[in-house]
Amino acid sequence: MKNASLCVLPFLQFNTLPNGRATVCCTSDTPLIGDDGRELNILTHTFDAIWNSKALQEVRSDMLAGKQLRRCDSCFSEDTRINGSMRDDVNYALLRPDANGDIGVDIPEKMKKNIERSKISLKPVFQIGLDELMPVMGRKPKSFDLRVDNKCNLACVICNPRYSSLIEDDPVHARWSGVKMDLPTTNRFNSGKNWARSEELTAEILDFANEAEYVQMAGGEPFVSRVGLAWLKHMVETGQSRSVDLTIFTNAQHITPRIIDQIATFRTVRLILSIDAYGEQYEYVRYPGKWANLETNVGKLLELQSRMGAKIVIMVNFTLSIYTCFSIRPMLDWCRKTGVAVILSFALGPDYVSLYNLPGPVKEKVTAELEKIAVDYADMNTISSQADRIIELLKKMSSPFSAQRFMRFTNEMDKARGTDFHKTFPDMSRAYKECGPWTGDASVIDYLRHYLRHPRMALDEIYPVAWALVINVGRRIPGVRKAWRVISGRDRDGHLKQV
Ligand code: SF4
Repeated sequence: MKNASLCVLPFLQFNTLPNGRATVCCTSDTPLIGDDGRELNILTHTFDAIWNSKALQEVRSDMLAGKQLRRCDSCFSEDTRINGSMRDDVNYALLRPDANGDIGVDIPEKMKKNIERSKISLKPVFQIGLDELMPVMGRKPKSFDLRVDNKCNLACVICNPRYSSLIEDDPVHARWSGVKMDLPTTNRFNSGKNWARSEELTAEILDFANEAEYVQMAGGEPFVSRVGLAWLKHMVETGQSRSVDLTIFTNAQHITPRIIDQIATFRTVRLILSIDAYGEQYEYVRYPGKWANLETNVGKLLELQSRMGAKIVIMVNFTLSIYTCFSIRPMLDWCRKTGVAVILSFALGPDYVSLYNLPGPVKEKVTAELEKIAVDYADMNTISSQADRIIELLKKMSSPFSAQRFMRFTNEMDKARGTDFHKTFPDMSRAYKECGPWTGDASVIDYLRHYLRHPRMALDEIYPVAWALVINVGRRIPGVRKAWRVISGRDRDGHLKQV
């Protein structure tokens, strides 16, 4: 029987989040706990100690034994089972088929088709057989996904302080996101808040990654991160870049001639550009990015592509938030004109800008727009299937929304940044106003009238507040707190338990 839980990543790839936490991959943020009882983190443990830790070794053994791990929940949700998950993607790419073409793990047929049809995956250069997975102890990893530090030049509406230093420094945005960097209280580099600037840390990465064949960098923004730039330079100067496949997630606001020259030396390059709207709307959601600067930089990257040919893939990752649901067409038209492939995804969080939070009547309009887009842009890469997938998810979303949270967040950000949502996104503004009063523009009487006419909307507004009370007050009562821990599978510290 095929292994239904195994994933190659914990065997091949070293992963960290921007706060230094070591994890099994970028989609799982459950900490790995070391023998000393502390979470494994590059600020407190060496790379070697993490890679060869008992905790990571247990993950590998459990996966080989077919156990489904709670830390991998994101790959086993109902939706990813149907549409394919990151686990399917990496297993399909990196597991070497046997003589019968079998890789030993199940991959949904739909997922295989998506991967094959899409121009966005480069053929991986290294692959590994199932029987070669375990002897990773004592060997350096071949693959790295390092997110070191949150240094970033943008403060995007869908982001949070863990991934953007600008948001961390913005009291309004940081308060809304509710996310903190959560750095360990001690730090072996003795450089306090500037730990990521430590020469020792950079030297350790360069040494530990010297056998890497796949390097993925994400943010923060890799092209403004001190560690990211030092690592690129080192791989180029030592000649290692010639045997490395490089993937970079970038906002493309900072592309220098030196960066272009450096990435040109890699064996293959995959550049994923985070661009969530066109023109003025881009500048709103990817604040304080400038569209003209972005266009110039994309031009430089396309020129590089014409030199590197099939060795480089450039694609746009368009993450839909509430703001941009009616802004898809101009962006797709621009991508069609420039010849760049697009991945259409949507933000699961933060809740105040996520599609989960769309009021019912607006959700219907967004669904209708996506249905038309699936037809009108059927010629573009996998846009139709991606639009269909988002429609499917929108239909399944039964979570209550709070239109108020989106409106209050927007009002506060507009005031702090001097932006104007209603002027920049007139279609979405109109759609919201058709559902009821815009927060701040209406009197208490207007609200009472509105909620009497639409009682379901009043309940939707009350539900998140009531739920927050149950979670925050209820959890302080010992019996309720214990029940919550058991139900949600957490330990006494609130961390998700294993398996
Ligand atoms: S199964 Fe999914 S969550 Fe687990 S390591 Fe693989 S990609 Fe990450």
